[in-house]
Amino acid sequence: MSVIYNRVALIGLGLIASSMFWAMKRAGVAGEVTGYARSPETRATARNIGLCDRICDSAAEACDGADLIVLCVPVGAMGAVAMEIAPVLKAGAVVSDVGSVKRAVIDAVAPHLPENVHFVPGHPLAGTEQSGPTSGFAELFDNRWCLLTPEGADPAAVADLRAYWEALGSKVDEVEVEHHDLVLAVTSHAPHLIAYTMVGVADDLSRVTDNEVVNFSATGFRDFTRIAASDPTMWRDVFLNNKDATLEILGRFTEELFALQRAIRQGDGDHLHDYFTRTRAIRRGIIEAGQDTDKPNFGRTKQ
Ligand code: NAP
Repeated sequence: MSVIYNRVALIGLGLIASSMFWAMKRAGVAGEVTGYARSPETRATARNIGLCDRICDSAAEACDGADLIVLCVPVGAMGAVAMEIAPVLKAGAVVSDVGSVKRAVIDAVAPHLPENVHFVPGHPLAGTEQSGPTSGFAELFDNRWCLLTPEGADPAAVADLRAYWEALGSKVDEVEVEHHDLVLAVTSHAPHLIAYTMVGVADDLSRVTDNEVVNFSATGFRDFTRIAASDPTMWRDVFLNNKDATLEILGRFTEELFALQRAIRQGDGDHLHDYFTRTRAIRRGIIEAGQDTDKPNFGRTKQ
């Protein structure tokens, strides 16, 4: 694989950025990779584990002269980071991000960027419940979708970023911004909120069941706890920044829940059976599309 960008800067050094670094090394698509995280502890850890070719002590230093800059911080922090790096951005550079929400990130970042850079927002649909610089692994993006929301950005810049993500193992698609936020509310954001809620309910209940909820947790609940262990800052920012779409989906969810509740109360087995038959088909579709594994323990101790 040949180099696509001579200099790549990763701002924020958590799960996604560290996975990008290892995937870049595997693919050989970047010359030098610089990195920056806001806390000295994270920067020290990154230096210790050889994450990035050079760890810088400011975001501006990391971005100075970079051909591709990827913002890998929580959604709510994107705007402030963009403002900080704007003065050093090289003409013709590509600025991207990996935020789980797109409209709010674009609105927060775009106003700070000079006109001579290309802003191509992105979102890799890949992750685990782990966070921080030691949690990344090169295979995270393999066979996962990465969605770009270019909104009229320079086609050559978009093509380069597409080739870059493909080299990192992803399948790439371009989608409209609002569509992205609605689809992700269904497939990721609302399910996380439901998992957080269910684990919260179980936690309340465990106080009256002498911890049996934890000791005897069956697969369904265990899966919820894994999702509900996801980073609190990241998910707070997702809900605050994809408010409309998440509330729309939660409204529909509540209506469906009431309908199922009524079917249980009325002993309407046909309704329940039909409903579960329909949902079972969705699971089969996900398996057929090869999107059914999270690889949660894959490579965590490697690199
Ligand atoms: P993470 O592991 O928690 O790492 C976040 C990084 O951002 C850390 O280096 C942290 O610095 C830095 N940071 C946090 N708050 C900041 C602030 N206010 N200003 C500057 N830097 C700040 O997060 P992640 O899972 O890699 O997620 C990063 C981005 O990817 C988020 O926008 C998220 O929505 C998106 N994303 C996540 C997933 C997922 O499943 N995790 C999947 C797809 C996309 P310190 O370590 O110094 O605190």
